Amino acid sequence: MTFTKKNFKEEFEERLQERFALSIEDASNKELYETLGKLVTSHYSRNWKHTRQDYLEEKQKQVYYFSIEFLPGRMLKSNLLNLGIYDTVEEGLKDLGISLDDLAKKEPDMALGNGGLGRLASCFMDSLASIGMPGNGNGIRYEYGLFKQKFVDGYQVELPDEWLNSRNMWEVRRESKAVDVHFGGKVYLIETPTGQLKPMYKGGYSIKAIPYDTGMTGFENDTVNTMRLWSAEVTEEEKANFQHFENRQELQNLTSVLYPDDSNEHGRRFRLSQEYFFVSAGMQSIFNYYKTLDLPMTEMNKAIAIHINDTHPAMCVAELMRLFVDEEGMAWEKAWDVTTKVMSYTNHTIMSEALEKWQTSLIKEVCPRIFQIIEEIDRRYVEEWQGVFDDELIKRTRIIRHDQVHMAHLAIIGSHSVNGVAKLHSDLLKSVVLKDFYAIYPERFNNKTNGIAQRRWSQLSNPLLSKTLDKYIGKTWRKDTGDLRLLLNHENNDKLLNDLANAKYENKKRLAAYIKEHNQVEVSPDAIFDIQIKRLHAYKRQLMNLMHIIKLYLDLKENPDLDITPRVFIFGAKAAPSYHFAKSVIKLINETANLVNNDDSIQGKLKVVFLENYNVSLAEIIIPAADVSEQISLASKEASGTSNMKFMLNGAITLATLDGANIEIKDAVGDDNIAIFGLTEAEVYRYYNEQNYNASDIYQNNPIIHRVVNAFVDGTIPNCSMEGQQIFDSLIKYNDEFFVLRDFISYCEAQEWIDESYKDKKKWGKMSLTNIAHAGHFSSDDTVRKYSEDIWRIAPIRKH
Ligand SMILES: *Cc1c(COP(=O)(O)O)cnc(C)c1O
Repeated sequence: MTFTKKNFKEEFEERLQERFALSIEDASNKELYETLGKLVTSHYSRNWKHTRQDYLEEKQKQVYYFSIEFLPGRMLKSNLLNLGIYDTVEEGLKDLGISLDDLAKKEPDMALGNGGLGRLASCFMDSLASIGMPGNGNGIRYEYGLFKQKFVDGYQVELPDEWLNSRNMWEVRRESKAVDVHFGGKVYLIETPTGQLKPMYKGGYSIKAIPYDTGMTGFENDTVNTMRLWSAEVTEEEKANFQHFENRQELQNLTSVLYPDDSNEHGRRFRLSQEYFFVSAGMQSIFNYYKTLDLPMTEMNKAIAIHINDTHPAMCVAELMRLFVDEEGMAWEKAWDVTTKVMSYTNHTIMSEALEKWQTSLIKEVCPRIFQIIEEIDRRYVEEWQGVFDDELIKRTRIIRHDQVHMAHLAIIGSHSVNGVAKLHSDLLKSVVLKDFYAIYPERFNNKTNGIAQRRWSQLSNPLLSKTLDKYIGKTWRKDTGDLRLLLNHENNDKLLNDLANAKYENKKRLAAYIKEHNQVEVSPDAIFDIQIKRLHAYKRQLMNLMHIIKLYLDLKENPDLDITPRVFIFGAKAAPSYHFAKSVIKLINETANLVNNDDSIQGKLKVVFLENYNVSLAEIIIPAADVSEQISLASKEASGTSNMKFMLNGAITLATLDGANIEIKDAVGDDNIAIFGLTEAEVYRYYNEQNYNASDIYQNNPIIHRVVNAFVDGTIPNCSMEGQQIFDSLIKYNDEFFVLRDFISYCEAQEWIDESYKDKKKWGKMSLTNIAHAGHFSSDDTVRKYSEDIWRIAPIRKH
């Protein structure tokens, strides 16, 4: 049955009346949004039910993707697109005098994640469903998502993200599937008459875990998978029961907030409790499901794959062992064999401060039985390899060392697969970060380069580009982004190049209007839009971008007639609330923006804009308008990056170091269609090995760098002497940890190349086209297909 505009309008008005007893003229956009949301869920609920039933009946092997973060953003348009009713609904609404865009803005941006890690998890959810793979998400339903960012006097201020204040249209509370998660107390092992050891719990308390399920719709394929997020609930009666526990407050609020930090850990016990909470709840619910299949416990790997996304869910390994051994009475060896066949792990970083370690005393306190099991896994690990590998190697790789539990070690030892997220990153895992494990388990290591949900990052966010593509290469690219390559047949088609340029121009106008509204800054769409949007972190080097802006500004002050292409530098970034360095960089950028934007003597050739509250919805407005994509992390530090892929798909030219997936982007588009600069990963490591990096030397000997760095402390940038001094010190006194000064000149040269290239509109247009044409390489549909084949061993269900 096709769903016509007429059907839609009737259904919409009926639902509005049913739910709010209103007619369209009297309804607010919020009410209209909720009505539309309800209509959309009712359109997939049947398929959601069927998908679940089919998996069950076929005993289809499923993957469960455990991630402490998901960053889906808004879901209305994505669902409309996937259900194949986007155009019908948009036009139907128009007939009724309603703008789909206006309604879509009423949906809160669901931000249960910090950045790339959470966004990847959500791209994977979309792709799993869209290629018809049986895949589920498992995470935490935080009551408050990532903080809302405001600037006051140029400083970042954090406000709570009360996203649940408006109704979440997409979730379904499933009280009947609740489970209990046990915390604290003591555990004793007693011998049963059959000689087995059984744990006896004394004290401690249980928290109820309630699942909230969200349907993950596939693109035009009737598949609707599930993302299950857990919420902690404590009844009044239970509260009274554990009045005397000192940490009861935090347990009652276990799922209240997302940690606004993706590298450093604070409030450690609380965070560890969150981790055990969603691990245990998720594993128990999988276990309950598996039991309904009536298959032997020893064959769980034939029906279940569990993925550990970064180390936060690493306790899955121990929790599954607990369920097998304690609850099912399985022998340890058998349980271990199945566990490692079920588990797989992705590493997301080489930054040592982000490799989680927990004090043994803390784990013992939070989940004593899990600690015992980890101890036993560790003991057997040492025993297994003693005499095979040298003692030092075993010591370095064991799970418990110096009273700390190494979560990455637990994940690796307990999994059959360990992957990095871009070629360079996976190589570094083997040669540096996890070298010792590579010696022991070479067969476990593999690469899976990240990808992005291309429908969201092109069709939804960039309809103008999409329509242009349809016109010249047909619509097949909308399902198979590999077909974007058809664009290469039109490289010299001036009409097409012109249409692409026009689409870009319109998108820049849209962003300019947003900037005008939110920052009260006037920017010209004729200028180069040069954009860096990502979490604020020293290794991502927003500071280097700022230094280049200061250099241009000083150059223009010296020579107002300097012939440079007008530029708008655009930033979006949140800093972790306790990350002082990052917050100082924000303040400095904001003060520089004030200085530059209000200085008439530079004739508007430079503008600097820092947009508040960077999130998925904002990214969807910014990225289509980009001319230049700044991917300037110090080589070896950015595991993959994914915003680099989003920009490429939208025709921006990448300005990048040879880091993460930038390298693969360069390989795809060719050296002529990307601006590469800076140290290579090998050169960075040479500095480490020889310990001969000297930032102060560079500062003393290079007059350009000297002048720019001094601007932080000599009053050039007003109102930030403290922050300026801090940044100055990070570079000179503390020897510039991320080699900003070393890469600066090379960066400026690459920027000059950008300036020159942009003047040649045709050349620029062709580069842009080439980038779009090769963006199909980075579809998360393909990434997830590779995970499915190589790691999870899952396949789409047979359609009857
Ligand atoms: C894609 C995305 C990221 C990741 O950006 P990187 O530049 O790869 O670090 C972070 N936040 C949001 C909102 C995103 O959409």
